[in-house]
Amino acid sequence: MTYAGPVDDLAPVTRTGGVPLVPAGFTWPQCAECSGPMQFLAQLPVNVPGAQDVEAAAVAEHVLSVFMCQNDPGLCDEWDPVAGGNRALLFPRAGLTPAQVPAGDETLLAETCGIDCTARDAAPYHEARGKWSEAYGRPLRDVLGQLGGTPSWLQHDETPACPSCARPMSFTAQLEEGRDDGTAMNFGGGGCGYAFACAPCEEGSFLWQC
Ligand SMILES: [Zn+2]
Ligand SMILES: [Zn+2]
Repeated sequence: MTYAGPVDDLAPVTRTGGVPLVPAGFTWPQCAECSGPMQFLAQLPVNVPGAQDVEAAAVAEHVLSVFMCQNDPGLCDEWDPVAGGNRALLFPRAGLTPAQVPAGDETLLAETCGIDCTARDAAPYHEARGKWSEAYGRPLRDVLGQLGGTPSWLQHDETPACPSCARPMSFTAQLEEGRDDGTAMNFGGGGCGYAFACAPCEEGSFLWQC
């Protein structure tokens, strides 16, 4: 996933930042630790199992929306997949509309970044990232993460179990903090976020490591 330039805050595309597109009856996630509204980080396509490629992403049936508390950075266990300092919500794509954004200074990122997906057969991810940067003569930080593939863990493997069916969740995406320190997401400074989904159960999960 690479930086594709600015996009509209409401664009129905894969992006970081902007306003999440949500189903009817949506309630903006609240932090379990501080009770404040979380910050919307990204919306990501979730592929049907066995079709994790760029073409399938274009017709993904679900969107995974990632939120994380930034009201007291570092104090709300926002790196943890189950503590309640972040949420990853899996929505069916059809019929999504822009969410009502709650009041608060930390609910939206300062920049909305469109994402291009380029298939790279190089593995692991951190090597593919370097090769893309070299091949296109663009900064490493224009690589915003990977969609599908295998997580490139900075620490140990923390693949979460689905809260509904208890099976290991499918890896959806790895997120870099972003291309600009002033508008980036906060994964502890140089960290990566990891988003997972269980499509049959319509569950999502998020964690980060640094
Ligand atoms: Zn909090
Ligand atoms: Zn499940």
